[in-house]
Amino acid sequence: MQVIKRLPTQLANQIAAGEVVQRPSSVVKELMENAIDAGATEISLNIKDGGRTLISIQDNGSGMNAEDALLCFERHATSKIDAIDDLFKLTTMGFRGEALASIGAVAHVSLKTKREEALTGVHIKMEGGNIAMNEEVVCSKGTLIEVKNLFYNVPARRNFLKSDSIEFNHIEDAFLYIAIAHPEVSFILHHNSQAIYNLSAANLKRRVTDVLGKNAGDRVFPIESETDIVKLTGFIGKPETAKKTRGSQFFFVNKRFFKSSYFNHAVLKAFEGLIPEKTHPTFFIFLEVDPAKIDVNIHPTKTEIKFEEERFIYSILLSTIRQSLGMFNLMPSLDFELETAFDLPAGFNKQPIVEPTIQVDPNFNPFKPQANSGKSNGFSKGIKEQGFGSTTPNEADWQSFYSINETPLPEQQELPGITDVQSVADLLLVGRYIFTPVKTGVMMIDSKRAMERILYDECIESFVKHPLNQQMLLFPIDKPLEKQEVRIVSNHLKTFEQLGFNISLEEQVLHILGAPEILHENGVVQCLEELIDRVEYSEQHQEDVAHSLVLQMVKHAARYHRISNKSEAELQIQRLFSCPDHTLSPSNEPIIQILAFEQLNQLIK
Ligand code: ADP
Ligand code: MG
Repeated sequence: MQVIKRLPTQLANQIAAGEVVQRPSSVVKELMENAIDAGATEISLNIKDGGRTLISIQDNGSGMNAEDALLCFERHATSKIDAIDDLFKLTTMGFRGEALASIGAVAHVSLKTKREEALTGVHIKMEGGNIAMNEEVVCSKGTLIEVKNLFYNVPARRNFLKSDSIEFNHIEDAFLYIAIAHPEVSFILHHNSQAIYNLSAANLKRRVTDVLGKNAGDRVFPIESETDIVKLTGFIGKPETAKKTRGSQFFFVNKRFFKSSYFNHAVLKAFEGLIPEKTHPTFFIFLEVDPAKIDVNIHPTKTEIKFEEERFIYSILLSTIRQSLGMFNLMPSLDFELETAFDLPAGFNKQPIVEPTIQVDPNFNPFKPQANSGKSNGFSKGIKEQGFGSTTPNEADWQSFYSINETPLPEQQELPGITDVQSVADLLLVGRYIFTPVKTGVMMIDSKRAMERILYDECIESFVKHPLNQQMLLFPIDKPLEKQEVRIVSNHLKTFEQLGFNISLEEQVLHILGAPEILHENGVVQCLEELIDRVEYSEQHQEDVAHSLVLQMVKHAARYHRISNKSEAELQIQRLFSCPDHTLSPSNEPIIQILAFEQLNQLIK
């Protein structure tokens, strides 16, 4: 019996659609790419309900004649390549001829299109992969495609979709990937009739700043370099604008967005010593390379790209960014002192802070082979020698102080409790640690983590019931926001109120009138920034938003907290031991360690 059969076209298309159309944002990507390939100068998108109800896109590109309009829904139908060789010199975004066939197989699609020279256009409707309508229509040059009820016939996919706001986030990303790479084209994006972006045709700098939001022009600087292998252009955020989450990081090669942890590393390396750990610089980096030297085909959704001269590009990226950082004399205005002061052993805080300086050789050409290695080393050494980001005591001093943490500890039989504390009169404060004698040795309490635990327990309990205690700011603060941030804040105003903020939004400016009582007034803005980043991250990773936000805020508050005398330490110990989970911080780091006599004896040997 014959068991192999040919799949019907519709089924084959539906299966292929699984690769091409994973979620609404994939449709947006494919349709926008088609509009660009058609030479459009105006592209307008209309989205309803995160794209599940409607994705509509109008362009003023070449349009199609009646025959092409029918053909474009067939699989492997493309106007972009003729022969296999064409694959290696691609200048178009699409080439597989699969997108429209795939979309037509899993949604209701309407296409209206007209070429400039034609008198009338054509209106085609596809349903379940079949042509449901094909008529002449009067319309202007270009193409209008409406995709409705995505995955109506693929319940597994439909059920897999996330909330509208998460799907829309993906759409916004897909939109930006294309809009940023094509500043000469104007783009409009609406979601549920609300205007999200209205980007007029412009140069790259204007496009980048339009995307980032008000006053962004001051926050970026240009990069540029050209070698035989790669031409590099773009804009990078100044060090002080680095963010806790990777919000705005964009790589493009030949105008195609891609992701690369390897190149990301080069950028981070260029910023080494200039931004705090675990923060991410903003960047919009464009590479132009010979299309024959990249492979855009290694990933089904094509965000990863293989480069033939990866290593070379890495070093060019690194040195170009470093050079620009020097040229634009970007003196960091970061508050390093705050964090380090807290982490240094007592006494070290009073040391004078050395003004950070960067020595730059303006004639430094990173592409001169002999200058390459030597100079870039000299550069970072320069930063270190100037004592950038640290106070004067040498590292070895406080490393040895901390090495006490690394001594292996014996198994603990019982959790330490308040009864172990023999006498609060013998408390000793060293840096952020409280030491107190216990029967078996010395108890060491990390007062910063202790504070996190105390505040977390207090806040999480009341957060769910009523807004946290608030203090009005003596001087209200206005903070300009980026567009993505505006959307996040306006979607979560209630949450921020619940956390104890008194804020309002006016266009792209956030007015801050009051803040949670537990925050230090100087930290309010930074804390809000962290929270905004955090909401976005939590949503995307489906974290428990309450836990995650309260934790973030508490960590911020604890950073400013200092124990300055014994009675404060005593009070903190009491508050800590009344928390049920007093040995672990809310992010599960140990708060208490007991240094047993045996260990202490070992140390002094
Ligand atoms: P590909 O882009 O890989 O060629 P698609 O399925 O996305 O495949 O599109 C098939 C063809 O339909 C394209 O090659 C192009 O000729 C035509 N086409 C699609 N969208 C448009 C548009 N917006 N304007 C003009 N032509 C289009
Ligand atoms: Mg295409």
